[in-house]
Amino acid sequence: MDRFTLFIADIHGNLLALEKVLEDYQGRGFPLESSTVVCLGDVVGYGARPSACVERLQSLDAITVMGNHDAAVVGEVSVEWFNPMARSAVRWTREQVKSAHVDWLASLPRQLDHGAFDCVHGSPSDPFSEYITGPLEATRAVDESHQSAVMSGHTHIPALYRSRSTDGSSRLTDETLNPGEHVPVDPSQQRLAVNPGSVGQPRDGDPRAAYLVWDRDQYEMIWYRTSYPIEETQREIREAGLPDRLASRLAVGS
Ligand code: ZN
Repeated sequence: MDRFTLFIADIHGNLLALEKVLEDYQGRGFPLESSTVVCLGDVVGYGARPSACVERLQSLDAITVMGNHDAAVVGEVSVEWFNPMARSAVRWTREQVKSAHVDWLASLPRQLDHGAFDCVHGSPSDPFSEYITGPLEATRAVDESHQSAVMSGHTHIPALYRSRSTDGSSRLTDETLNPGEHVPVDPSQQRLAVNPGSVGQPRDGDPRAAYLVWDRDQYEMIWYRTSYPIEETQREIREAGLPDRLASRLAVGS
């Protein structure tokens, strides 16, 4: 297994953000060619470059789980549960994505193991709907996982919840994350629920693209943020005729 894993999530058809994350990762000295890329779902939906994002992940041999937007685009879940804005983006995406890319999206698993990590989009018991938004949900997610560490996306907010030990009864607590800080993490000694944040549509008030590096030699996780050409991305979304809010929200990270 590679020393470094690049964890990404919620790209949502934002190619410029994805490209910038890969560039930033390499610019910090991480070797992309000898890293494992794990994508925690929602490759498409909302953004204007869904097929290009699929192609980029394919070129990286990224290990990818299916998100609720990916599932909606391939018809695996009904769009009836989506808000009107998300629904119209799903319909637009269905018309745009090449059929070979639809096949790839449809082939994605709902869950996969990457070493000690249980990788899902939402949560282990409900990969498409459940949001891990606090210590209670994080504790339940790890209780329901076959691993002691859960990696997920879906909230579009970077997060680290953990216990002091692997003791099954111990509750997870929320930790403050600072971009660039090296956080010592040991999945064999702690129960963990981790979210790298969103590449293509951050919702924590910071519009910069988010990603997470796992260093299995040093037992460290590092959350990073990087600026990308937001105005260009907004122009792509508006030119595609997608709802304007999908463009405007990128500037504020909400
Ligand atoms: Zn998402």
